[in-house]
Amino acid sequence: MREVRTTCPYCGVGCGVLAKVAADGQVSVRGDPDHPANFGRLCSKGSALAETIDLDGRLLHPEIDGRRVGWDEALERVALTFSQTIAEHGPDSVAFYVSGQLLTEDYYVANKLMKGFVGSANIDTNSRLCMASSVAGHRRAFGSDTVPGTYEDLELADLIVLVGSNLAWCHPVLYQRIAAAREKRPEMKIVLIDPRRTMTADIADMHLAIAPDGDVALFTGLLAYLGQHNALDRAYITEHTTGFGKALFAASNLDLAGVAEATGLSEDELGRFYSLFARTKKTVTVYSQGVNQSSSGTDKVNAIINCHLATGRIGKPGAGPFSVTGQPNAMGGREVGGMANMLAAHMEIENPAHRARVRRFWNAPDIADKPGLKAVDMFKAVGDGRIKALWIMATNPVDSMPDADAVEAAIKACPFVVVSDVLASTDTVRHAHVRLPATAWGEKDGTVTNSERRISRQRAFLPAPGEARPDWWIVAEVARLMGFGEGFAHATPAEIFAEHAALSAYENDGARDFDIGAYAGIDADTYEDLVPFQWPAPSQATPLWPAGHLPLKGGDQRSQPPSPITNVSERAPSAKLPISPLEGEMAGRPEGGVQAGRQPEKDGQAARSPSTRFFANGNFYTPDRRAHFIAVRPVAETRTDEKFPLILNTGRVRDHWHTMTRTGKSPRLSQHIAEPFVEIHPADAQHFGIGDADIVRISSPRGEVLVRALVTSRQRQGSLFAPMHWTDQFAAKGRLDALTASLTDPVSGQPALKHVAVRIEKFAAKAFGFAVMRQRPAPVAATYWAVAKCRGGWRVELAFADDDIDWAGFAAALFGASPDMLAYHDRDAGQHRIAAFDGERLAGALFVAPGPVAVSRGWAAEQLEETHAGQRERFRIVAGRAGAERPDAGATVCSCFSVGANQIAAAVAAGCTTVASIGETLKAGTNCGSCRAEIRAIIEARRVQAAE
Ligand code: SF4
Repeated sequence: MREVRTTCPYCGVGCGVLAKVAADGQVSVRGDPDHPANFGRLCSKGSALAETIDLDGRLLHPEIDGRRVGWDEALERVALTFSQTIAEHGPDSVAFYVSGQLLTEDYYVANKLMKGFVGSANIDTNSRLCMASSVAGHRRAFGSDTVPGTYEDLELADLIVLVGSNLAWCHPVLYQRIAAAREKRPEMKIVLIDPRRTMTADIADMHLAIAPDGDVALFTGLLAYLGQHNALDRAYITEHTTGFGKALFAASNLDLAGVAEATGLSEDELGRFYSLFARTKKTVTVYSQGVNQSSSGTDKVNAIINCHLATGRIGKPGAGPFSVTGQPNAMGGREVGGMANMLAAHMEIENPAHRARVRRFWNAPDIADKPGLKAVDMFKAVGDGRIKALWIMATNPVDSMPDADAVEAAIKACPFVVVSDVLASTDTVRHAHVRLPATAWGEKDGTVTNSERRISRQRAFLPAPGEARPDWWIVAEVARLMGFGEGFAHATPAEIFAEHAALSAYENDGARDFDIGAYAGIDADTYEDLVPFQWPAPSQATPLWPAGHLPLKGGDQRSQPPSPITNVSERAPSAKLPISPLEGEMAGRPEGGVQAGRQPEKDGQAARSPSTRFFANGNFYTPDRRAHFIAVRPVAETRTDEKFPLILNTGRVRDHWHTMTRTGKSPRLSQHIAEPFVEIHPADAQHFGIGDADIVRISSPRGEVLVRALVTSRQRQGSLFAPMHWTDQFAAKGRLDALTASLTDPVSGQPALKHVAVRIEKFAAKAFGFAVMRQRPAPVAATYWAVAKCRGGWRVELAFADDDIDWAGFAAALFGASPDMLAYHDRDAGQHRIAAFDGERLAGALFVAPGPVAVSRGWAAEQLEETHAGQRERFRIVAGRAGAERPDAGATVCSCFSVGANQIAAAVAAGCTTVASIGETLKAGTNCGSCRAEIRAIIEARRVQAAE
């Protein structure tokens, strides 16, 4: 039995995970009580990590045009084609599209190859879709991409303003930290600014249901209010900033009535929020995709930062603007310069001195001298033939890019596409000429940086399966074959990290924020034992390597893969995977613009290491070392029209991650929400003739999707919300980004994924169906289908444009023909139920009805795991009823203990009136806690019902 310290691969909270591998190879995970991001907590996604590491669907061998090949042939094909393309068409004819899922070491070598050796900056990342506007806003205001604060500030604040951030579902452990802090200090106030009443509203004192893209008006209005009500920190403004007058003048153009009109909020709501902000010194404003994914995202970020600069609320315990990132290593990607408009180590590509420095450090033959193509422009260039060779690493742009159908067409038309991935079959992998198997979470080694600038190790605890290799190794091998061996002779991730750390300190002397020079001399053992630390961590001693020269081990030798090839049928643990102690930070504390925060007492779990903050005393990274106020003005933009009258807001659900390549493997995570859906306000639903659970078609000028309707007053009238997770692998027509436009923020290049004009109409289904089956079904012959994993197999939601169907044949196609079948048909009523048995086990069951099928999903899925020897049990399946002794649990609320909404409602009716008492009775909410907001919502709904 071994327990290995690693980091969760999902969101930017960056929780520490302890992964235990039992002697029989079984893996279990728990939160790392000593990790400063989570102190032992994990959300539902993190808790279910062990369910996602099987080898089902893994890409295990390199392939060229669908043919299995050896690594040598695959690498040579990639290197040769890229070299020839560059020779014939120039460096800008090739591109890398990479990912916040990559580890820093992977990212570093990919960026180094493209920017320093190919000589192009055509490397961009899916982080462009996530937080590029925050990067741009930081750089405009601070002169650097610096997140000033720390997670601790969320617990120390007296007011937390959450803007466009559904923390309860998207950063659940931060939400739990805030909820816990608020329980200790009930006087803490929380304001949620979001067009939707999300689950995060559960802890909010005030929910401002702002109009889409109303944020610039809201925060410029706030700046004006602060000026009018003597709530400015004039000393801070004078000593540490510039441009305040212009920003205030721009803000003053809008009076309160104008702000109300632009935001859709009442003057009373605005007044209460502004007054609360003005009088609360310890304020943290947290923002994420709701701010960033906008055509005015950078202005929104600067409008928020302006208010913090104007009040001097930055870099102080409990005060600051705080961008939280979506991906586990979006921050690491920023540090290595993995975006098309940045250079490594937070240096600027447009700055000749920075370019010269990086070139010197890398001893690079060439260095990109201008920004490359940002993600949206990159795929346009693929589409129009300017880019002729594209390498996609660890991401799925066919589903996640805006205008996704056009992106897919571009990839299909590209002369040469390489995809490095862990899966053999994603919507993107299927179009690759060369497929390269990469190691997955649990198999790879490296570092990630979370939203509070904390660098943690991801450690391998499983052997690499098949011929899978780490991304850094794959890139380095291609670089070597392209003739750049000297620059890519790293033998281990530790060597890459050491080089990355050395570059951060190289000719820095406090001029740049990102400095982890204290780690420049790190050796393999120290790297193995690395404890989480926050940057900056500058060198406190003489640099280990002379300036301008970084000795790399091994010369031009080919680096060796770090893990042996293992039998793919086994998951035998590897021999030695040490557990590193977490004893506190090893880096010395920086001076200058960084302050140590107060160190809270132990909270019964772990001592907290001191926090680092930026800018309490100025020292920004602009040429004049002052923060720059940015004069921003709201731009009124109407995208809806008669044809597309609604605004679609895209987002995420609690238990899924990105395009479900990992979370879709977990039965536990797939039962919370098992199909694509759209939330619509009751008034809009009535207007468009849509009922709850109807299948609806959402269309934009670019494409359409078919999803389930969820009628709810949580949604703002005139707006829809739909999650972005479903792909062709999980649904008939659920790729939401087929609807979104390639409209981007003019500064950051981030797409406006939260403001898409669409129309909605009911899909006139003639029949609806639901099925469970032991084996995953082959392509389903239904107009609408959505497949999800469940404990004993798979479940499928169905809808049909036609009801003239041979249902027995359809069932046989779904779960196989069986001589042992039971069927019930009532053709007049349009009811059909068919169950097939394999011995005493249920092979599959299909339920068809003229309306949405009213069969308990949880009960039906459970039948796959039970034995059905007697006719009575078999008839019950065909009847679609559990029997009185097994009441329908309802839709899953608590994934950890499989507790449904009906069970919680029954417990409330029986006298449980708090989340704690529900936990005592049903255990719901007592593990990861991600469902507590939903439990509270059910309690509240029952309370309101009882009062009516
Ligand atoms: Fe992983 Fe959840 Fe922590 Fe995010 S909050 S890092 S998804 S455990």
